[in-house]
Amino acid sequence: MTREPQAAVIAGVTVDTRHWIDGERVASTETFTDISPIDGGALGEIARGTAMEAAAAVAAAKAAFPGWAATPRAERARILHAIADGVEKRLEDLAIVETYDNGALLRSHRRGVMPRVAHNFRFFADWLLQLEHEDFETRGHTNHVSWDPAGPCVLITPWNAPLMLATWKVAPALAAGNTVVLKPAEWSPLTASLLADIAAEAGLPAGVLNVVQGYGSEVGDALTSHPDVRRISFTGSVPTAKRIAASAAAGLTPLSLELGGKSPLLVFADADLDLAVDLAVEQYDNAGQVCLAATRLLVEEPVVEEFTRRFVEKASALKQGDPRDEATDIGPNIHPRQLEKIDGFVQRALAAGARVVIGGHRNGGQFYAPTLLTDIDQDSEIVQEEVFGPVLTLQTFADEDEAVRLANGTRFGLAATVATGDPERAERVSGQLVAGTVWINCFFVRDLQAPFGGSRESGVGREGGTWSFDFYCDVKNTVTAPKGWQDHG
Ligand code: NAD
Repeated sequence: MTREPQAAVIAGVTVDTRHWIDGERVASTETFTDISPIDGGALGEIARGTAMEAAAAVAAAKAAFPGWAATPRAERARILHAIADGVEKRLEDLAIVETYDNGALLRSHRRGVMPRVAHNFRFFADWLLQLEHEDFETRGHTNHVSWDPAGPCVLITPWNAPLMLATWKVAPALAAGNTVVLKPAEWSPLTASLLADIAAEAGLPAGVLNVVQGYGSEVGDALTSHPDVRRISFTGSVPTAKRIAASAAAGLTPLSLELGGKSPLLVFADADLDLAVDLAVEQYDNAGQVCLAATRLLVEEPVVEEFTRRFVEKASALKQGDPRDEATDIGPNIHPRQLEKIDGFVQRALAAGARVVIGGHRNGGQFYAPTLLTDIDQDSEIVQEEVFGPVLTLQTFADEDEAVRLANGTRFGLAATVATGDPERAERVSGQLVAGTVWINCFFVRDLQAPFGGSRESGVGREGGTWSFDFYCDVKNTVTAPKGWQDHG
Protein backbone atom coordinates (compact mmCIF):
# COMPACT_ATOMS: atom_id res chain seq x y z
CA MET A 1 0.00 0.00 0.00
CA THR A 2 1.29 3.47 -0.80
CA ARG A 3 0.85 5.98 1.94
CA GLU A 4 2.03 9.51 2.50
CA PRO A 5 3.33 9.81 6.04
CA GLN A 6 3.43 13.26 7.52
CA ALA A 7 3.44 13.23 11.28
CA ALA A 8 2.94 11.25 14.46
CA VAL A 9 1.52 12.86 17.57
CA ILE A 10 3.08 11.32 20.69
CA ALA A 11 1.60 12.44 24.03
CA GLY A 12 0.86 15.81 22.47
CA VAL A 13 4.25 16.16 20.73
CA THR A 14 4.14 16.31 16.94
CA VAL A 15 6.94 14.49 15.14
CA ASP A 16 7.34 14.76 11.38
CA THR A 17 7.73 11.23 10.07
CA ARG A 18 9.19 12.11 6.69
CA HIS A 19 12.91 12.15 5.88
CA TRP A 20 14.93 15.33 6.29
CA ILE A 21 16.99 15.91 3.16
CA ASP A 22 18.64 19.17 2.08
CA GLY A 23 16.66 21.19 4.59
CA GLU A 24 13.30 19.85 3.47
CA ARG A 25 10.84 17.18 4.49
CA VAL A 26 10.69 14.40 1.93
CA ALA A 27 8.09 11.63 1.82
CA SER A 28 8.63 8.13 0.45
CA THR A 29 6.05 6.21 -1.49
CA GLU A 30 6.15 3.44 1.15
CA THR A 31 5.92 3.59 4.92
CA PHE A 32 6.46 1.31 7.88
CA THR A 33 4.60 1.33 11.17
CA ASP A 34 6.48 2.39 14.28
CA ILE A 35 5.25 0.49 17.35
CA SER A 36 5.59 1.47 21.00
CA PRO A 37 7.06 -1.18 23.32
CA ILE A 38 4.89 0.18 26.12
CA ASP A 39 1.65 -1.31 24.83
CA GLY A 40 2.38 -2.48 21.30
CA GLY A 41 0.30 0.39 19.91
CA ALA A 42 1.14 2.08 16.61
CA LEU A 43 2.90 5.44 17.02
CA GLY A 44 2.88 6.44 13.39
CA GLU A 45 3.66 5.71 9.78
CA ILE A 46 7.31 6.39 9.01
CA ALA A 47 8.71 7.21 5.56
CA ARG A 48 10.44 4.05 4.36
CA GLY A 49 13.59 5.10 2.56
CA THR A 50 15.07 3.38 -0.45
CA ALA A 51 18.25 3.75 -2.47
CA MET A 52 16.67 6.82 -4.07
CA GLU A 53 16.37 8.77 -0.80
CA ALA A 54 19.79 7.53 0.28
CA ALA A 55 21.33 8.92 -2.91
CA ALA A 56 19.47 12.22 -2.53
CA ALA A 57 20.71 12.58 1.05
CA VAL A 58 24.33 11.85 0.12
CA ALA A 59 24.05 14.33 -2.79
CA ALA A 60 22.75 16.98 -0.40
CA ALA A 61 25.55 16.26 2.05
CA LYS A 62 28.12 16.47 -0.75
CA ALA A 63 26.75 19.78 -2.02
CA ALA A 64 26.68 21.31 1.47
CA PHE A 65 30.17 20.10 2.38
CA PRO A 66 32.39 22.87 0.93
CA GLY A 67 30.37 25.61 2.64
CA TRP A 68 30.25 23.91 6.04
CA ALA A 69 33.90 22.84 5.90
CA ALA A 70 34.89 26.46 5.18
CA THR A 71 32.75 27.83 8.01
CA PRO A 72 35.13 29.15 10.69
CA ARG A 73 35.53 26.82 13.67
CA ALA A 74 34.11 29.41 16.07
CA GLU A 75 30.93 29.70 13.98
CA ARG A 76 30.53 25.92 13.75
CA ALA A 77 30.96 25.73 17.52
CA ARG A 78 28.39 28.50 18.00
CA ILE A 79 25.80 26.57 15.96
CA LEU A 80 26.53 23.36 17.88
CA HIS A 81 25.93 25.21 21.14
CA ALA A 82 22.68 26.56 19.66
CA ILE A 83 21.65 22.95 18.91
CA ALA A 84 22.43 22.08 22.54
CA ASP A 85 20.24 25.01 23.63
CA GLY A 86 17.45 23.63 21.42
CA VAL A 87 17.82 20.16 22.92
CA GLU A 88 17.57 21.66 26.41
CA LYS A 89 14.52 23.71 25.41
CA ARG A 90 12.77 20.62 24.06
CA LEU A 91 14.13 18.23 26.67
CA GLU A 92 10.73 17.14 27.93
CA ASP A 93 9.44 16.51 24.37
CA LEU A 94 12.53 14.47 23.52
CA ALA A 95 12.31 12.48 26.75
CA ILE A 96 8.65 11.60 26.26
CA VAL A 97 8.93 10.73 22.58
CA GLU A 98 11.98 8.52 23.18
CA THR A 99 10.21 6.69 26.02
CA TYR A 100 7.19 5.95 23.82
CA ASP A 101 9.48 4.94 20.98
CA ASN A 102 11.98 2.61 22.68
CA GLY A 103 10.43 1.91 26.10
CA ALA A 104 13.35 3.14 28.20
CA LEU A 105 12.57 4.89 31.48
CA LEU A 106 11.16 8.40 31.25
CA ARG A 107 13.01 9.45 34.40
CA SER A 108 16.33 8.35 32.86
CA HIS A 109 15.56 10.25 29.68
CA ARG A 110 14.63 13.37 31.62
CA ARG A 111 17.48 13.45 34.09
CA GLY A 112 20.28 11.50 32.42
CA VAL A 113 20.05 10.88 28.70
CA MET A 114 18.67 14.10 27.23
CA PRO A 115 20.86 16.46 29.27
CA ARG A 116 23.80 14.38 28.03
CA VAL A 117 22.57 14.70 24.45
CA ALA A 118 22.88 18.48 24.85
CA HIS A 119 26.28 17.95 26.48
CA ASN A 120 27.45 15.91 23.48
CA PHE A 121 27.06 19.01 21.28
CA ARG A 122 28.64 21.36 23.81
CA PHE A 123 31.56 19.04 24.48
CA PHE A 124 32.58 18.56 20.84
CA ALA A 125 32.04 22.26 20.06
CA ASP A 126 34.44 23.16 22.86
CA TRP A 127 36.89 20.36 22.04
CA LEU A 128 37.07 21.61 18.45
CA LEU A 129 38.20 25.04 19.64
CA GLN A 130 41.07 23.66 21.69
CA LEU A 131 42.05 20.92 19.24
CA GLU A 132 45.72 21.34 18.52
CA HIS A 133 48.97 19.47 18.40
CA GLU A 134 52.13 21.29 19.35
CA ASP A 135 54.31 21.96 16.31
CA PHE A 136 57.61 20.10 16.35
CA GLU A 137 60.83 20.32 14.44
CA THR A 138 62.67 17.91 12.18
CA ARG A 139 66.15 19.10 11.15
CA GLY A 140 64.97 22.71 11.43
CA HIS A 141 61.71 22.06 9.54
CA THR A 142 58.42 22.70 11.31
CA ASN A 143 55.76 19.97 11.45
CA HIS A 144 52.24 21.28 11.83
CA VAL A 145 49.37 18.83 12.38
CA SER A 146 45.86 19.83 11.31
CA TRP A 147 42.48 18.11 11.31
CA ASP A 148 40.80 18.73 7.93
CA PRO A 149 37.12 17.87 7.44
CA ALA A 150 36.77 14.59 5.54
CA GLY A 151 33.47 15.00 3.66
CA PRO A 152 30.00 13.45 3.83
CA CYS A 153 29.67 10.93 6.68
CA VAL A 154 27.10 8.16 6.98
CA LEU A 155 26.08 7.50 10.58
CA ILE A 156 24.01 4.39 11.33
CA THR A 157 22.64 3.87 14.82
CA PRO A 158 20.70 1.32 16.91
CA TRP A 159 17.51 1.56 18.96
CA ASN A 160 18.64 0.96 22.53
CA ALA A 161 19.71 4.56 23.21
CA PRO A 162 18.69 6.26 19.98
CA LEU A 163 19.46 9.96 20.42
CA MET A 164 22.38 9.48 22.79
CA LEU A 165 24.22 7.17 20.40
CA ALA A 166 23.30 9.23 17.32
CA THR A 167 24.63 12.45 18.84
CA TRP A 168 27.91 10.84 19.93
CA LYS A 169 28.50 10.68 16.19
CA VAL A 170 26.57 13.66 14.81
CA ALA A 171 28.20 16.17 17.19
CA PRO A 172 31.89 15.38 16.44
CA ALA A 173 31.21 14.83 12.73
CA LEU A 174 29.58 18.27 12.41
CA ALA A 175 32.12 19.95 14.69
CA ALA A 176 34.90 18.61 12.48
CA GLY A 177 33.32 20.35 9.47
CA ASN A 178 31.75 17.29 7.87
CA THR A 179 28.23 16.88 6.57
CA VAL A 180 26.09 13.99 7.72
CA VAL A 181 23.49 11.46 6.65
CA LEU A 182 22.02 9.88 9.77
CA LYS A 183 20.07 6.61 9.50
CA PRO A 184 18.32 5.90 12.81
CA ALA A 185 17.09 2.40 13.68
CA GLU A 186 13.68 1.47 12.29
CA TRP A 187 12.41 0.49 15.76
CA SER A 188 13.04 3.96 17.22
CA PRO A 189 13.32 6.63 14.54
CA LEU A 190 11.40 9.51 16.12
CA THR A 191 13.87 11.60 18.11
CA ALA A 192 16.25 11.80 15.12
CA SER A 193 13.47 13.63 13.33
CA LEU A 194 13.08 16.06 16.24
CA LEU A 195 16.85 16.59 16.18
CA ALA A 196 16.60 17.63 12.51
CA ASP A 197 14.01 20.28 13.50
CA ILE A 198 16.18 21.49 16.38
CA ALA A 199 19.29 21.70 14.18
CA ALA A 200 17.43 23.68 11.51
CA GLU A 201 16.10 26.09 14.13
CA ALA A 202 19.64 26.48 15.47
CA GLY A 203 20.76 27.72 12.06
CA LEU A 204 22.53 24.63 10.71
CA PRO A 205 22.57 25.17 6.92
CA ALA A 206 20.48 22.93 4.66
CA GLY A 207 22.14 19.67 3.65
CA VAL A 208 24.65 19.65 6.55
CA LEU A 209 22.52 17.19 8.55
CA ASN A 210 20.22 14.82 6.68
CA VAL A 211 18.07 12.10 8.22
CA VAL A 212 16.96 9.09 6.20
CA GLN A 213 14.64 6.55 7.79
CA GLY A 214 14.00 2.97 6.83
CA TYR A 215 15.14 -0.60 7.03
CA GLY A 216 18.85 -1.24 7.05
CA SER A 217 18.49 -3.84 4.32
CA GLU A 218 16.76 -1.33 2.04
CA VAL A 219 18.68 1.95 2.53
CA GLY A 220 21.82 0.53 4.14
CA ASP A 221 23.80 -0.65 1.14
CA ALA A 222 23.01 2.44 -0.88
CA LEU A 223 24.50 4.55 1.90
CA THR A 224 27.50 2.45 2.84
CA SER A 225 28.65 1.69 -0.71
CA HIS A 226 28.17 5.24 -2.02
CA PRO A 227 31.38 6.55 -3.62
CA ASP A 228 30.90 10.09 -2.26
CA VAL A 229 30.82 8.97 1.37
CA ARG A 230 34.11 9.63 3.20
CA ARG A 231 33.37 8.08 6.61
CA ILE A 232 30.97 5.46 7.95
CA SER A 233 30.32 5.29 11.66
CA PHE A 234 28.15 2.43 12.80
CA THR A 235 26.82 1.34 16.17
CA GLY A 236 24.93 -1.94 16.20
CA SER A 237 25.34 -5.67 15.97
CA VAL A 238 28.30 -7.71 14.74
CA PRO A 239 26.51 -9.36 11.77
CA THR A 240 25.35 -5.98 10.44
CA ALA A 241 28.86 -4.56 10.95
CA LYS A 242 30.31 -7.32 8.78
CA ARG A 243 27.83 -6.54 6.01
CA ILE A 244 28.64 -2.83 6.23
CA ALA A 245 32.39 -3.48 6.21
CA ALA A 246 31.99 -5.59 3.05
CA SER A 247 29.91 -2.89 1.41
CA ALA A 248 32.40 -0.15 2.39
CA ALA A 249 35.31 -2.19 1.07
CA ALA A 250 34.61 -1.22 -2.54
CA GLY A 251 35.56 2.40 -1.83
CA LEU A 252 37.92 1.63 1.08
CA THR A 253 35.75 4.01 3.09
CA PRO A 254 37.10 4.36 6.64
CA LEU A 255 34.86 2.77 9.24
CA SER A 256 34.23 3.16 12.91
CA LEU A 257 32.37 0.19 14.42
CA GLU A 258 30.87 0.17 17.93
CA LEU A 259 29.43 -3.30 18.36
CA GLY A 260 28.06 -5.80 20.81
CA GLY A 261 29.52 -7.26 23.93
CA LYS A 262 29.36 -9.97 26.54
CA SER A 263 31.15 -8.12 29.26
CA PRO A 264 32.12 -9.66 32.60
CA LEU A 265 31.75 -8.41 36.17
CA LEU A 266 34.51 -9.97 38.27
CA VAL A 267 33.70 -10.12 41.97
CA PHE A 268 36.67 -11.02 44.16
CA ALA A 269 36.24 -12.27 47.71
CA ASP A 270 37.93 -9.11 49.00
CA ALA A 271 35.31 -6.85 47.37
CA ASP A 272 32.76 -4.71 49.16
CA LEU A 273 29.96 -7.19 48.59
CA ASP A 274 27.13 -4.66 48.78
CA LEU A 275 28.85 -2.58 46.12
CA ALA A 276 29.40 -5.70 43.98
CA VAL A 277 25.71 -6.58 44.27
CA ASP A 278 24.68 -3.03 43.36
CA LEU A 279 26.93 -3.20 40.30
CA ALA A 280 25.44 -6.57 39.32
CA VAL A 281 21.81 -5.47 39.69
CA GLU A 282 22.59 -2.31 37.68
CA GLN A 283 23.11 -4.59 34.68
CA TYR A 284 19.32 -4.85 34.32
CA ASP A 285 19.16 -1.15 33.43
CA ASN A 286 17.33 -0.39 30.18
CA ALA A 287 15.87 -3.92 30.42
CA GLY A 288 19.34 -5.28 29.70
CA GLN A 289 19.53 -3.54 26.35
CA VAL A 290 22.92 -1.94 26.95
CA CYS A 291 25.93 -2.84 24.83
CA LEU A 292 28.27 -2.37 27.80
CA ALA A 293 26.21 -4.45 30.22
CA ALA A 294 28.28 -6.83 32.35
CA THR A 295 26.01 -9.77 31.70
CA ARG A 296 28.46 -12.39 32.94
CA LEU A 297 28.80 -12.37 36.71
CA LEU A 298 32.04 -14.09 37.70
CA VAL A 299 32.24 -14.53 41.46
CA GLU A 300 35.08 -15.96 43.58
CA GLU A 301 34.00 -19.23 45.15
CA PRO A 302 34.12 -18.34 48.90
CA VAL A 303 31.61 -15.47 48.50
CA VAL A 304 29.26 -16.83 45.84
CA GLU A 305 26.60 -17.98 48.29
CA GLU A 306 26.42 -14.68 50.14
CA PHE A 307 26.66 -12.70 46.89
CA THR A 308 23.79 -14.68 45.38
CA ARG A 309 21.63 -14.25 48.50
CA ARG A 310 22.07 -10.47 48.49
CA PHE A 311 21.66 -10.29 44.70
CA VAL A 312 18.36 -12.17 44.76
CA GLU A 313 17.08 -9.95 47.57
CA LYS A 314 17.94 -6.77 45.72
CA ALA A 315 16.92 -7.88 42.23
CA SER A 316 13.58 -9.20 43.49
CA ALA A 317 12.74 -5.72 44.76
CA LEU A 318 13.07 -4.18 41.28
CA LYS A 319 9.79 -2.84 39.96
CA GLN A 320 9.04 -3.79 36.40
CA GLY A 321 6.36 -1.83 34.62
CA ASP A 322 5.35 1.23 32.64
CA PRO A 323 8.49 3.26 31.79
CA ARG A 324 6.51 6.50 32.19
CA ASP A 325 6.04 5.73 35.87
CA GLU A 326 8.72 7.34 38.05
CA ALA A 327 8.77 4.30 40.34
CA THR A 328 9.58 1.82 37.56
CA ASP A 329 13.06 0.28 37.50
CA ILE A 330 12.76 -1.96 34.43
CA GLY A 331 10.64 -1.20 31.38
CA PRO A 332 9.63 -3.35 28.43
CA ASN A 333 11.91 -4.77 25.74
CA ILE A 334 11.89 -2.99 22.44
CA HIS A 335 9.93 -5.30 20.13
CA PRO A 336 8.08 -8.62 20.10
CA ARG A 337 10.88 -10.02 17.92
CA GLN A 338 13.49 -9.01 20.52
CA LEU A 339 11.41 -10.63 23.28
CA GLU A 340 11.21 -13.80 21.20
CA LYS A 341 14.98 -13.74 20.78
CA ILE A 342 15.61 -13.25 24.51
CA ASP A 343 13.27 -16.07 25.47
CA GLY A 344 14.86 -18.33 22.86
CA PHE A 345 18.28 -17.86 24.48
CA VAL A 346 16.88 -18.62 27.94
CA GLN A 347 14.88 -21.67 26.87
CA ARG A 348 17.86 -23.16 25.03
CA ALA A 349 20.06 -22.57 28.08
CA LEU A 350 17.52 -24.30 30.31
CA ALA A 351 17.26 -27.19 27.90
CA ALA A 352 21.05 -27.49 28.07
CA GLY A 353 20.92 -27.81 31.87
CA ALA A 354 21.10 -24.24 33.19
CA ARG A 355 19.37 -23.52 36.50
CA VAL A 356 17.17 -20.47 37.10
CA VAL A 357 18.18 -18.38 40.11
CA ILE A 358 15.55 -15.73 39.34
CA GLY A 359 13.26 -15.01 36.38
CA GLY A 360 13.61 -17.15 33.29
CA HIS A 361 10.24 -16.25 31.79
CA ARG A 362 8.20 -13.57 30.04
CA ASN A 363 6.37 -11.16 32.26
CA GLY A 364 3.30 -10.18 30.23
CA GLY A 365 3.18 -7.59 27.44
CA GLN A 366 6.63 -6.87 26.11
CA PHE A 367 8.31 -7.53 29.44
CA TYR A 368 10.89 -10.13 30.33
CA ALA A 369 11.46 -10.96 34.00
CA PRO A 370 14.95 -10.01 35.27
CA THR A 371 16.78 -13.31 34.98
CA LEU A 372 19.85 -14.93 36.48
CA LEU A 373 20.99 -18.34 35.22
CA THR A 374 23.68 -20.54 36.67
CA ASP A 375 25.15 -24.05 36.20
CA ILE A 376 26.41 -23.18 32.75
CA ASP A 377 29.56 -23.95 30.81
CA GLN A 378 31.93 -21.31 29.51
CA ASP A 379 31.43 -22.53 25.94
CA SER A 380 27.62 -22.57 26.12
CA GLU A 381 25.57 -20.27 23.93
CA ILE A 382 24.21 -18.25 26.88
CA VAL A 383 27.77 -17.38 27.95
CA GLN A 384 29.14 -16.75 24.47
CA GLU A 385 26.34 -14.85 22.70
CA GLU A 386 24.91 -11.40 23.38
CA VAL A 387 21.27 -11.73 24.53
CA PHE A 388 20.49 -7.99 24.74
CA GLY A 389 17.80 -8.44 27.36
CA PRO A 390 17.60 -8.65 31.19
CA VAL A 391 19.45 -11.96 31.35
CA LEU A 392 22.61 -12.46 33.42
CA THR A 393 24.68 -15.57 34.00
CA LEU A 394 26.56 -16.57 37.14
CA GLN A 395 29.84 -18.50 37.12
CA THR A 396 32.42 -18.99 39.83
CA PHE A 397 36.21 -18.92 39.80
CA ALA A 398 38.85 -20.27 42.13
CA ASP A 399 41.65 -17.75 41.61
CA GLU A 400 42.76 -14.70 39.66
CA ASP A 401 44.06 -16.70 36.71
CA GLU A 402 40.77 -18.46 36.25
CA ALA A 403 38.87 -15.18 36.63
CA VAL A 404 40.89 -13.58 33.84
CA ARG A 405 40.60 -16.67 31.64
CA LEU A 406 36.80 -16.73 31.97
CA ALA A 407 36.53 -12.95 31.57
CA ASN A 408 38.53 -13.01 28.32
CA GLY A 409 36.91 -16.19 27.08
CA THR A 410 34.50 -14.82 24.48
CA ARG A 411 34.98 -13.27 21.05
CA PHE A 412 34.00 -9.84 22.44
CA GLY A 413 36.00 -7.20 24.27
CA LEU A 414 33.84 -4.18 24.91
CA ALA A 415 34.08 -3.62 28.66
CA ALA A 416 34.84 -5.28 31.99
CA THR A 417 34.08 -4.39 35.59
CA VAL A 418 36.18 -5.50 38.54
CA ALA A 419 35.00 -5.45 42.16
CA THR A 420 37.88 -5.81 44.57
CA GLY A 421 39.16 -4.19 47.75
CA ASP A 422 42.78 -4.69 46.72
CA PRO A 423 44.22 -1.90 44.50
CA GLU A 424 47.19 -4.04 43.47
CA ARG A 425 44.88 -6.82 42.32
CA ALA A 426 42.79 -4.24 40.47
CA GLU A 427 45.85 -3.08 38.56
CA ARG A 428 47.12 -6.60 37.88
CA VAL A 429 43.77 -7.90 36.67
CA SER A 430 42.76 -4.87 34.61
CA GLY A 431 46.10 -5.07 32.83
CA GLN A 432 45.21 -8.56 31.59
CA LEU A 433 41.61 -7.93 30.55
CA VAL A 434 40.79 -7.58 26.87
CA ALA A 435 38.32 -4.68 26.87
CA GLY A 436 37.95 -1.14 25.54
CA THR A 437 36.91 0.07 28.98
CA VAL A 438 37.66 -1.42 32.41
CA TRP A 439 35.80 -0.12 35.45
CA ILE A 440 37.20 -0.77 38.93
CA ASN A 441 34.51 -0.73 41.64
CA CYS A 442 32.23 1.34 39.41
CA PHE A 443 30.24 1.06 36.20
CA PHE A 444 29.10 3.25 33.30
CA VAL A 445 31.22 6.26 34.22
CA ARG A 446 32.28 7.83 30.96
CA ASP A 447 33.89 11.13 30.15
CA LEU A 448 33.58 12.22 26.52
CA GLN A 449 37.29 12.98 26.36
CA ALA A 450 38.11 9.32 27.09
CA PRO A 451 38.54 6.79 24.27
CA PHE A 452 35.50 4.57 23.81
CA GLY A 453 35.25 1.41 21.74
CA GLY A 454 35.69 -2.31 21.72
CA SER A 455 38.40 -4.88 21.15
CA ARG A 456 38.03 -8.14 19.18
CA GLU A 457 34.52 -8.37 17.65
CA SER A 458 33.23 -5.55 19.84
CA GLY A 459 34.47 -2.96 17.45
CA VAL A 460 36.98 -1.20 15.30
CA GLY A 461 38.43 2.16 16.33
CA ARG A 462 37.85 4.49 19.25
CA GLU A 463 35.67 7.57 19.59
CA GLY A 464 35.67 10.38 22.16
CA GLY A 465 37.69 13.61 22.47
CA THR A 466 40.55 13.79 20.01
CA TRP A 467 39.94 10.18 18.90
CA SER A 468 36.64 11.33 17.34
CA PHE A 469 38.38 14.10 15.41
CA ASP A 470 41.08 11.65 14.31
CA PHE A 471 38.33 9.52 12.79
CA TYR A 472 36.09 12.20 11.31
CA CYS A 473 38.99 14.19 9.82
CA ASP A 474 41.74 13.78 7.31
CA VAL A 475 44.63 14.38 9.68
CA LYS A 476 47.36 16.25 7.86
CA ASN A 477 50.99 17.04 8.68
CA THR A 478 52.40 20.14 6.96
CA VAL A 479 56.20 20.34 6.95
CA THR A 480 57.68 23.79 6.38
CA ALA A 481 61.31 24.36 5.57
CA PRO A 482 63.22 26.92 7.63
CA LYS A 483 63.62 30.37 6.15
CA GLY A 484 66.41 30.45 3.58
CA TRP A 485 66.79 26.67 3.50
CA GLN A 486 67.84 26.74 -0.16
CA ASP A 487 71.04 28.55 0.84
CA HIS A 488 71.95 25.74 3.21
CA GLY A 489 70.53 22.81 1.26
P1 NAD B 1 21.47 -3.85 14.18
O1 NAD B 1 22.83 -4.17 13.73
O2 NAD B 1 20.37 -4.80 13.87
O3 NAD B 1 20.99 -2.43 13.58
C1 NAD B 1 21.71 -1.25 13.80
C2 NAD B 1 21.44 -0.28 12.66
O4 NAD B 1 21.95 -0.83 11.46
C3 NAD B 1 19.96 0.00 12.41
O5 NAD B 1 19.81 1.37 12.11
C4 NAD B 1 19.67 -0.85 11.18
O6 NAD B 1 18.62 -0.37 10.39
C5 NAD B 1 20.98 -0.72 10.43
N1 NAD B 1 21.23 -1.77 9.44
C6 NAD B 1 20.79 -3.05 9.44
N2 NAD B 1 21.25 -3.70 8.33
C7 NAD B 1 22.00 -2.81 7.64
C8 NAD B 1 22.75 -2.88 6.43
N3 NAD B 1 22.83 -4.01 5.72
N4 NAD B 1 23.39 -1.78 6.03
C9 NAD B 1 23.36 -0.64 6.75
N5 NAD B 1 22.66 -0.51 7.90
C10 NAD B 1 22.00 -1.59 8.34
O7 NAD B 1 21.59 -3.58 15.74
P2 NAD B 1 20.41 -3.25 16.75
O8 NAD B 1 19.65 -4.50 17.01
O9 NAD B 1 19.68 -2.04 16.28
O10 NAD B 1 21.24 -2.82 18.05
C11 NAD B 1 21.66 -3.71 19.02
C12 NAD B 1 23.14 -3.97 18.86
O11 NAD B 1 23.87 -2.76 18.96
C13 NAD B 1 23.67 -4.85 19.96
O12 NAD B 1 24.56 -5.79 19.43
C14 NAD B 1 24.43 -3.86 20.86
O13 NAD B 1 25.44 -4.41 21.65
C15 NAD B 1 24.96 -2.92 19.85
N6 NAD B 1 25.32 -1.64 20.49
C16 NAD B 1 26.64 -1.31 20.59
C17 NAD B 1 27.00 -0.12 21.21
C18 NAD B 1 28.45 0.29 21.35
O14 NAD B 1 28.70 1.46 21.58
N7 NAD B 1 29.41 -0.62 21.24
C19 NAD B 1 26.02 0.72 21.73
C20 NAD B 1 24.69 0.33 21.62
C21 NAD B 1 24.35 -0.84 20.97
